[in-house]
Amino acid sequence: MHKPLILIVEDDAPIRNLIATTLKANDYRFITALTGESAVAETATHNPDIVLLDLGLPDLDGIEVIKQIRSWSNTPIIVISARTEDTDKIEALDAGADDYLTKPFSVNELLARLRVTQRRLSLMQNTAQQAIYENHQLKIDYANGCAYLQEKELSLTPIEYKLLCVLAQNTGKVLTHKFILQHVWGNSWESNMGSLRVFMASLRKKLVKEPNAPQYIQTHVGIGYRMMKIDE
Ligand code: CA
Repeated sequence: MHKPLILIVEDDAPIRNLIATTLKANDYRFITALTGESAVAETATHNPDIVLLDLGLPDLDGIEVIKQIRSWSNTPIIVISARTEDTDKIEALDAGADDYLTKPFSVNELLARLRVTQRRLSLMQNTAQQAIYENHQLKIDYANGCAYLQEKELSLTPIEYKLLCVLAQNTGKVLTHKFILQHVWGNSWESNMGSLRVFMASLRKKLVKEPNAPQYIQTHVGIGYRMMKIDE
């Protein structure tokens, strides 16, 4: 099987070495870049499966690196940052990052984020052309506009259904409130900030039939939501 190639963008040598050692021990291949400009160049040359990107780089700001890569590539980008402010995470996600890790992070957390991103990629490749979305006991029939949980049709309002579709189409990816609002409400998104929480709460309630049932929708406080890929 093909070992995933990870581009590590980090100017801080101890952290870069920690990530490299972790990847090596877990069957990943990796290349490294120490600056923003070389990150963009390495992505173009080697087409990595995932980019791990530090935001504080000596030349370009990490956000600028995300924007440049996103102008021509969909390669997943996981931000690794010492910036703990929610606004920085939101800025990175809005610029096109797929996920974020805050320093200091544990090696296990890094590996978990890589797995989530890889699952999302394979899910996207498998479902790109399909009219039916399936995730554990959740099913969406896009052609007929219906969703099912454990084979039973869910009774969803049009807004709840739209929310579910936006999340499902980005399974594994953290979506900001702004992203979700723009995709569900379009131009009137700013006036619907308050509605989002209400509709999301009712949607989540409908997706959990039993107390120990898997949580499909994960909340990122102050940032947004993510549809999780639930393993069988
Ligand atoms: Ca740095």
